Amino acid sequence: MEALIALLPGDGIGPDVTNSAREVLDAVARKFDHKFHFDEQLIGGIAIDQTGDPLPAATIDCCNSADAVFLGAVGGPKWSDPNATVRPEQGLLKLRATLNVFANLRPVKIYPELVGASPLRPEILAGVDLIVVRELTGGIYFGKKSRDADSASDLCVYTVAEIERIVRMAAKLAGERRGRLCSVDKANVLETSRLWRDVTNRLMRDEFSAIELETLLVDAAAMHLLSRPSDFDVIVTENMFGDILTDEASMLTGSLGMLPSASLGDSSKGLYEPIHGSAPDIAGLGIANPCAAIASAALLLRHSLGLEREAVAVEKAIERAITNGARTADIVARGESQISTSEMTAEIIGGLG
Ligand code: NAD
Repeated sequence: MEALIALLPGDGIGPDVTNSAREVLDAVARKFDHKFHFDEQLIGGIAIDQTGDPLPAATIDCCNSADAVFLGAVGGPKWSDPNATVRPEQGLLKLRATLNVFANLRPVKIYPELVGASPLRPEILAGVDLIVVRELTGGIYFGKKSRDADSASDLCVYTVAEIERIVRMAAKLAGERRGRLCSVDKANVLETSRLWRDVTNRLMRDEFSAIELETLLVDAAAMHLLSRPSDFDVIVTENMFGDILTDEASMLTGSLGMLPSASLGDSSKGLYEPIHGSAPDIAGLGIANPCAAIASAALLLRHSLGLEREAVAVEKAIERAITNGARTADIVARGESQISTSEMTAEIIGGLG
């Protein structure tokens, strides 16, 4: 197949890991006989420096015409003045809104060789393989806000249509995996959660009766995620609960450098990025872990280009590299030798077969 991929390297380690993802996609194209075209554009701090705008019009045009968008990371101390009116993250938020990506998918998978990097006991982590599907464009983060001298308010609104589309996406995903969906809400207190639960129960009964549905209150979910993480398959939840639970879930692995994400909407076009930031403390050193970015490229192959076989090949190549002992600085244990970003990338490309 032929596809156009917008590449937005951004700031800090963003360009290093984006380059790794591109090299892997190039290797996939060679091996499986596809043609991937890349169009590299500015976003974030570097875009502010060069154009004054964290998401220049040329970047938006490129993303609109591409089949998929890959992002490295944005931000860094140079642009972190809280009083600045133009900030790197504005570029990312605007890009998500422009692409209308309402679902954020974060797979969390434990590599047996890396259990030592997690703060949890190995026996709790055995077999963890879950995805959190977070609603990304509604709820309290987007409701009307107000403030006066002694009070403030943030309105939380969800419509039936917003709940249906995210639950439907999560249920389909569960159908392609182990067939289990856990919906997280706070229906004992919040009206939006009661609507969420009603809509979810109806939709699952009418359209996905083969999927096993579990419903948890968010406080209980936070606990169960640490006490029995391997029981979960797909977790679906609203924006703010998802924000918190995805960060909690990411700590199961103990390393930000391993975890990918995909933001999807109604069309096949998606936004793919590692969950980590621009890591200014290691920028320019060539030691960033490219696995999260490369795993995000695998999600791009699967969700935007429909290339499941190729996506699995990349995921297996990452697993193989880890099994063979390839370790960047963030995941190296005492006594193991450490390799660079480019060496880890080459190791993964070598494992594609
Ligand atoms: P961070 O994820 O950039 O870094 C946290 C720690 O993890 C650092 O010690 C870093 O060295 C390490 N780390 C992160 N990714 C790594 C990798 N691939 N390999 C090895 N080590 C890695 O988070 P932060 O320090 O809180 O934020 C730094 C900047 O990134 C800030 O400006 C923040 O706003 C921005 N940020 C951007 C995004 C994004 O672009 N989506 C997400 C989070 C943070």
